[in-house]
Amino acid sequence: MRDAARDVVVIGAGIVGSISSYLLSRSGLRVTMLETDALGSHASGFAFGGLDPLNGHGLPEPLLDFSLYCFGRHWAMARELQRATGIDPNFQPRNRLYLAFDDNDVSQYDANVAWMKDVSMFDVHWVDAPSARRLEPRVNPECVGALYQQGAASVDAYRLTLAAARAAERHGAELVLQRATGIEYHGGRVDAVTCPDGRIEAGAVIVAMGPWSQIITDWCGTPLPVEPLKGQILRMRYDGPPLNAALNYRGNYVDSKSDGLAWAGSTEEEAGFNAHPDSKGRDAILSHLSRMAPDLANAALMQHTACLRPVTPDGMPIVGRLPGWDNLYIATGAGRKGILWSIGMSDIITQLITREDTQVTGAEHLTPTRFT
Ligand SMILES: Cc1cc2nc3c(=O)[nH]c(=O)nc-3n(C[C@H](O)[C@H](O)[C@H](O)COP(=O)(O)OP(=O)(O)OC[C@H]3O[C@@H](n4cnc5c(N)ncnc54)[C@H](O)[C@@H]3O)c2cc1C
Repeated sequence: MRDAARDVVVIGAGIVGSISSYLLSRSGLRVTMLETDALGSHASGFAFGGLDPLNGHGLPEPLLDFSLYCFGRHWAMARELQRATGIDPNFQPRNRLYLAFDDNDVSQYDANVAWMKDVSMFDVHWVDAPSARRLEPRVNPECVGALYQQGAASVDAYRLTLAAARAAERHGAELVLQRATGIEYHGGRVDAVTCPDGRIEAGAVIVAMGPWSQIITDWCGTPLPVEPLKGQILRMRYDGPPLNAALNYRGNYVDSKSDGLAWAGSTEEEAGFNAHPDSKGRDAILSHLSRMAPDLANAALMQHTACLRPVTPDGMPIVGRLPGWDNLYIATGAGRKGILWSIGMSDIITQLITREDTQVTGAEHLTPTRFT
């Protein structure tokens, strides 16, 4: 490599780094994306790609507005990136059935229906067991009913990441396949990012290394509480038509994807940086799958993947300028929602760098200062 100077160096070409690079380069800045492996080669390339802004950490409070903001941006972003690159991120509306098997499940869903009904973009209501099976005949007949959520969506996470990076390159960004090994700084200002083959001077640096972002503490001394949380997914070939709706049960799901396969997931495992698929994960997913849709549990296993979500102590992303630093930004920690939230996270970082302020709703809940 060579020594170079850029307006912004983005470390990590997952979905957050790629969309941030697109937005920054589109605004006229000279951007370098540094990636140690390959574009989208970790969670961003293997995630299920569900876009459900109503379920997950921080919901409904304090992140509902932020989550709806992100959801609202996805369709337009998918079209914009497809026009720019010819790569279709496969944004598709997908309704969801959250299945209940006992009174405990029912009372949990009841509590959620109360506030979900007020979210105008979505139609969320309770359906009894026969109605759930009419909506999707492969639903387990033992289910006692389901929360039916109309209005959610899904994308192909790898294609979205690829399209964003390609679009960034069309605006002059460069992707350099090198590992960032550290930063050079004086006072609270970063001067350059170092790599095995040289250094890149940077006007601003974005740390978007997913769970590996924690290494920033070694580089600059500022604590960053991000940890890996392993998740596994099975891709399966099955007989019959695609599912009419995604099926969900206690954090597990199955849905038909654009590759014609049913994707079923997902585990949550504290396994450090071990990202190997294993039989324990496979069996756990199959057991939940047979609970949701017994017919699908006999489908042929085509691919088994594992990767690492970046998670924070409060389950919400860390997005913003690192305290005590002029030009060092963090965008990571989105856990199970990183595909959905990536656009809002990238909007925040782009606005902070180009305007020194952000108008993104809910950004105040995501600042790195909440951990200091
Ligand atoms: C099984 C599973 C299913 C999921 N399903 C969904 C879903 O349905 N919906 C949803 O919204 N989210 C989902 N997620 C979550 C989502 O995938 C993640 O939150 C998101 O992909 C994280 O993106 P990222 O860009 O922050 O990190 P990553 O994708 O991990 O990217 C970080 C990049 O940084 C690179 N890097 C690391 N260190 C260095 C270095 N020193 N120098 C240069 N580069 C470096 C890595 O190689 C990597 O490419 C799922 C996650 C998993 C594991």
